[in-house]
Amino acid sequence: MNTPDPRPSGLVTSRAHSARVYDYILGGKDHYPVDAEAGEAMRRHWPALPVHMRENRRFMHRAGRYLAEEHGVRQFLDIGTGLPTSPNLHEVVQEVAPESHVVYVDNDPIVLAHARALLRSTPEGATAYVDADMHDPDAILDSPEFRDLIDLDKPVGLMIIGIMHFILPPEDRRLVARLLEPLPSGSYLAMTIGTADFAPEEVGRVAEEYRQQSMPMALRDLATATSFFDGMDLLDPGVTQVHTWRPGPEQEGVEGRDIAMYGAVARKR
Ligand code: SAH
Repeated sequence: MNTPDPRPSGLVTSRAHSARVYDYILGGKDHYPVDAEAGEAMRRHWPALPVHMRENRRFMHRAGRYLAEEHGVRQFLDIGTGLPTSPNLHEVVQEVAPESHVVYVDNDPIVLAHARALLRSTPEGATAYVDADMHDPDAILDSPEFRDLIDLDKPVGLMIIGIMHFILPPEDRRLVARLLEPLPSGSYLAMTIGTADFAPEEVGRVAEEYRQQSMPMALRDLATATSFFDGMDLLDPGVTQVHTWRPGPEQEGVEGRDIAMYGAVARKR
């Protein structure tokens, strides 16, 4: 049985948690039986779930690398980091530029417990971890970690990957806007957004399972997903399913019906 040890305070192991279900589906070790059961149920509802989650993670890799390589971004704020799974964002961007700074944010005590392992930055760069909830963006922006590591005179890459389906309307847009607000013009938003547009029945069943596990989920159509970027300049190719956003060889053969996630990168004006 894969149980992380010691159990951090604040940890609830009687209920599934999204970070640990994600870890289970992706073949990680940091989950409890309740998460494995929930993950199994979800996979029965939709066997493509692991493909979908892996492609979400790979979008994060490509978007992070693209911002570092093509747009020279050297500081990142990553909301809903998840359990450390190599390569993590700092590994991707510090491979391009070792001096890069990354501030990670998550609200799961398990992720917090693993933060030390996650924080292995290059000597030239820096990483930090904020234990906070996206519903309280000011706690993130006022944190010493954000203030110390992020220079608001330089562009920032705001990464909101694989978490928006847990951030429900009506405050979803306000929360994203608040996180973008202090970032200078020329900063970037990279985001993935869950959708039932391509496999409505299967994804609907997965969402229902999450709901029954006390994790209500918002799924969004293309127009709603696109509206998160209103007032920003979308970079090519705009809002697409994650596996068709600047795809590489790894994306060959991935079927559209297996991917329930839109992704995009946009520049702040
Ligand atoms: N960004 C990573 C992990 C996605 S899993 C990736 O794409 O690979 C979603 C993560 O969001 C989990 O780690 C979960 O703990 C976190 N999360 C969910 N709701 C959150 C909230 N309201 N505030 C902060 N983190 C949250």
